[in-house]
Amino acid sequence: MPGSFFMHKQTTPPICNYEDSDYQTSFWDQGGREYEDRTEAIALKRLLPKKGRLVLELGAGAGRNTSRYPGFERIVLLDYSRTQLEQAQGRLGKSDKYIYVAADIYRLPFVNGLFDVATMIRTLHHMADAPKALEQVRNVLGSSGIFILEFANKLNLKAILRFLLGRQKWNPFTLEPVEFVKLNFDFHPRAIRNWLKELGFEIERTLTLSHFRVGFLKRIVPTSILVFLDSFFQSTGALWQLSPSIFVKAKIVGRDAISLIEPNDILSYFKCPECGHSPLIEKNGYLECSSCRKR
Ligand SMILES: [Zn+2]
Repeated sequence: MPGSFFMHKQTTPPICNYEDSDYQTSFWDQGGREYEDRTEAIALKRLLPKKGRLVLELGAGAGRNTSRYPGFERIVLLDYSRTQLEQAQGRLGKSDKYIYVAADIYRLPFVNGLFDVATMIRTLHHMADAPKALEQVRNVLGSSGIFILEFANKLNLKAILRFLLGRQKWNPFTLEPVEFVKLNFDFHPRAIRNWLKELGFEIERTLTLSHFRVGFLKRIVPTSILVFLDSFFQSTGALWQLSPSIFVKAKIVGRDAISLIEPNDILSYFKCPECGHSPLIEKNGYLECSSCRKR
């Protein structure tokens, strides 16, 4: 695949890999997730800058959200799974606008300060070491870079009620992440805010989503009505956050401007995830580091 790069190998911490998964079809297309998908589209529209140069979509999967970045000149789709990216390429087609990169979020293969915007939607959910992943995102964002992050909220109304009724052992009020299924984590909103602040981000906006993610409501109320109501309640995220899904828009503050990359030289985007060396050498189907010889 031209414009596609694959770079992983041994990884720590553990990775939730969607390789060979039919996630897009089973979860999104036929899984009754139209409500969640449409409310995410609304949140993205509210938070995304109107235009920009280069956006990094972390955990892009099969490209479900990729068409929702119309104002950007170029989009880098990153996912750990190569087959997910092949599905994305099948959906989006081959074009200079999209660059597909199979890599590990804990060791991003990009030079520092490259992107104006990064998004990570339904992905932090699988991160055993969330602060480490967030730090990598911070490093590849340029000065005044914008980060749009979705995370699963442990402090949601259902978890609170279940805990108070004694039907759930884990405490939704404490700051540590909860791993409710292997490699599936919910986070406390304050823990996320603390991590982002420590990394030099300032939170500009918070939206709450999926207020009505309740099976019987989704069965009896038309999706358009639920989407409309959810859209109405999203802004209450500025006041409190009790919904299962939260979007934050964070901006890097006080970062030095970093040398501009030649936008058409795609090779200059990359650095070696092992030793940090840049530029890499393009070989047939992979990139090689001239410093440590890693592929
Ligand atoms: Zn290297």
